[in-house]
Amino acid sequence: MESLDSLINALKKFPSLGPKSARRIAFYLLKQDDKELQRIGGLISSLKKNLVTCSQCGNVSEKDPCRICTDPLRDRDILCVVDDLESLSAFEQSGIYNGLYHVLGGRISGELTDESADFLAKHIRSLKPSEVIIASSPRIEGDMMYYTLIDILKGLGVKNITRLAYGLPLGGSIEFADRMTLHTALEGRRKI
Ligand SMILES: [Zn+2]
Repeated sequence: MESLDSLINALKKFPSLGPKSARRIAFYLLKQDDKELQRIGGLISSLKKNLVTCSQCGNVSEKDPCRICTDPLRDRDILCVVDDLESLSAFEQSGIYNGLYHVLGGRISGELTDESADFLAKHIRSLKPSEVIIASSPRIEGDMMYYTLIDILKGLGVKNITRLAYGLPLGGSIEFADRMTLHTALEGRRKI
C-alpha cells in the first residue's frame, strides 16, 4: 500500500482536493490499465518540458509567440489584461472573447513588480490596441492593481480603458466564474 499512500498524499496537495477526493482518484487510477496509466503519467511528466512563456503576452504555450498572439482571426485591437494564467484559461474556455490577452504575472502584495509593468508597457507599445480591458479579479488586492494599471495605461496614451462589469462575485475570482457570469461582465464593461 505504500506507493498508493504516497499517491494519495501527493493528490491531497492538489487545489480543491481533500483526502476523500484524493483517495477516490487514487483508486480510480488503480482500476486503469497500464497503457492508460502511462499515458496520464506521460502527460504530467512532460507538462513543462514543451512549454515556454510567450514573450509578448505572458501566456504559456508550446511556441513563442503563443498561438493566441499569432492567430490571424483574433481581434488585435482589443487587449484584455488578466491577473494570471487561470483567468486567461477561464476566458478562453468560455469562448466569449476574441481579442488578445496580457497576463500580468509577478506582483508583490497587490502591486505590479517593475518587471511586470515594463512587460505590459512593451506589449502595449508594440500592439497599440484601441481598447484595453482591465479584467483583474475583484478583490481588494485587485483594486490596488486597478489604479496602478490605469496610471500605466494612461501614461502610454491608451484612450479607451474599460473594466469588467461586476456581475462577478466580490472576493471571487475570474477563474471560478461561470460562462454566463463572465459573458455578462464582459458585455457590460464600462469605460473608465
Ligand atoms: Zn502570447
